[in-house]
Amino acid sequence: MLLRKIEESLLPDFYFESLKEAKPEIIVKNGRKAVLIDLDNTLVPRDKEKVSKEVRGWIKEAQKHGLSLCIVSNNWEGRAKKVADELGLPLVAPAGKPRKRAFLKALSILGVDASQAAVIGDQVFTDVLGGNRLGLLTVLIKPLSSKELIHTRFLRAVEKKILARNQPKNQRLMVDNNIKD
Ligand SMILES: [Mg+2]
Repeated sequence: MLLRKIEESLLPDFYFESLKEAKPEIIVKNGRKAVLIDLDNTLVPRDKEKVSKEVRGWIKEAQKHGLSLCIVSNNWEGRAKKVADELGLPLVAPAGKPRKRAFLKALSILGVDASQAAVIGDQVFTDVLGGNRLGLLTVLIKPLSSKELIHTRFLRAVEKKILARNQPKNQRLMVDNNIKD
């Protein structure tokens, strides 16, 4: 029973192969108007600064759909600020996810409450757990690169097990014929 509860808090609402598949329309249709988005391995591969055309395209598309964005990153390097500045997005870092504080700060920057926001990230133990604790819509995507910190690599193995056993909570909602490529 307790284990079940723990697993629940680690399960995303949606799980996609890439950011591209996490279509802004899906987030809007689920009643959210803001997105707290992770940096490393979500917007850029870890240790890289260059944002791909694809990710830039997704950001534009999200803004076109009226979503406001804030980067929330556990990264402590200047690189996070550089990427945020380049994209013209606000940044909360280092965030200490899954703790609530940074998410709450991002929500206040964007002027929304938790029920109006989603979180997108590549890690269950930071992005999804933190988001679920606050009642954000949680969207997990596959990491952009396999380059990771050692503790992350360990957590990946646990993640894999949990995701293999469970279907993301709202994944059925995703199959919506109105949303095309
Ligand atoms: Mg990440």
